[in-house]
Amino acid sequence: MSEEIALSSADRAQGLVRCDACPVLCRIRPGRVGACDRYANEDGKLVRVDPLVLLAKPGVETVAFVTGIGATTTYPDYKPAPFIVSSKHDGVDMVTVVTEGIFSYCGVKVKIDTDRYLGPEQAPVRVRGEQVGHVTTAEYGSQMLSLGGVHHLTGGSKKEGVVTCEALLALCNREAVELAIDGGATVVVQANKPPIVNGVIEERMRVGCGSAAIGMFAPQWRDHVDEVIVVDDHITGVLSEHQGGRFLDMKPAGIRVRGRRSTPGRYFQVAEPGLGWGGTDVADPLQIIEKIDPKQAWPGLRLLMVSTTGEHSAWFELDGDLKPQPTPMPAAVRSVVERIAENCEPALCTVLFMAGAGGSLRAGVTDNPVRLTRSVRDALTKVTLGGVPAYVWPGGGITLMVDVAHMPEKSFGSVPTPALVAPIEFTLRADDYATLGGYTSRVISLEEAKARAGYVRIDEDRR
Ligand code: SF4
Repeated sequence: MSEEIALSSADRAQGLVRCDACPVLCRIRPGRVGACDRYANEDGKLVRVDPLVLLAKPGVETVAFVTGIGATTTYPDYKPAPFIVSSKHDGVDMVTVVTEGIFSYCGVKVKIDTDRYLGPEQAPVRVRGEQVGHVTTAEYGSQMLSLGGVHHLTGGSKKEGVVTCEALLALCNREAVELAIDGGATVVVQANKPPIVNGVIEERMRVGCGSAAIGMFAPQWRDHVDEVIVVDDHITGVLSEHQGGRFLDMKPAGIRVRGRRSTPGRYFQVAEPGLGWGGTDVADPLQIIEKIDPKQAWPGLRLLMVSTTGEHSAWFELDGDLKPQPTPMPAAVRSVVERIAENCEPALCTVLFMAGAGGSLRAGVTDNPVRLTRSVRDALTKVTLGGVPAYVWPGGGITLMVDVAHMPEKSFGSVPTPALVAPIEFTLRADDYATLGGYTSRVISLEEAKARAGYVRIDEDRR
């Protein structure tokens, strides 16, 4: 142990221990824990507070997998990973290299199933006033946030780094976090739970855009309506103009909506984005009607206006002056509106942990780190986090993503550097491990791993 890491004789006399599992190098007093609450001084010995988590098939006695949760970390990483465990699968000798990775380069991608406007693209996302990320490109039926990353963890003020780390840790451990978006909404995000936008729980993820809704339901509307307008912040659909209506020989109704016509029956920017109908700021749907052409429309024309989730709907008939008048909705139309709602999926938040494992962490697996990267690329090495297979991005490094909802509870920790700590396991054939320069002399059996650490066993389906 170097001078810097070694404890003074006075410290030793007082029973202190030094934790060297991360660059903070805590001196821990007897009976106390280190700065991350993950290591403690127990009777003069450094111990990991949380047990090693082993996964087992439900109802089967034998343990299937050693996860990195509670495995401890070796820092700096040129020391072999704390557990390198042998196993046999289908008669093949396998090795799993298990550790808790410390990730300074990490963040979460958050998918929020809602049409409601959360804020402009690129807008800062804040927790307790600190920017922890930004709004990124919206997806089909979902708003997306990109949170964390090295710039917020290390590139801003100390407080920004700390708050970012705390927010990431909570999100990864499936806790609720309130996020405030500049120029937009406040949203409570929790993995696998519905988002809460400005205090309102989102229930439905839209069936599709306005144009898609027309395409899906046009035949069911045809005999009961003269026009349907599906209000959507992105693509508002107008049935009689749309290919869906034309295909069914619907007569032009002469109702022109605001915004920019993209293709027949498909309109962009009919209103401003907001928390109203179909992710617009519209509370009264008639606001989006620009004009009604007296050459085409007729008194008694039946008009349905509906949002992409079916949450909002209204039925109108044109009076003698071609003014839309609210009228009770016929049952046959109501049932198609209900079908839109029925076809919506429950709105959820999804939190994907994303990190780069391509750095020094690899040196805990092999003395020739690039070989691990190549082995992952060649699909010889499987990468899991807490036993959950990670998606590894193509290109350089080992840049991975994993859905935290599938990982065991409390899989993540943090250290004050600040960085997140996540379990990571590399599994490969024993002969491939030897070929890539693995620490074969450190391979132990599952029984030895169990004897070495306090552990808990959980069923894979109870993660
Ligand atoms: S912060 Fe945690 S891991 Fe880092 S040295 Fe202190 S006790 Fe060890």
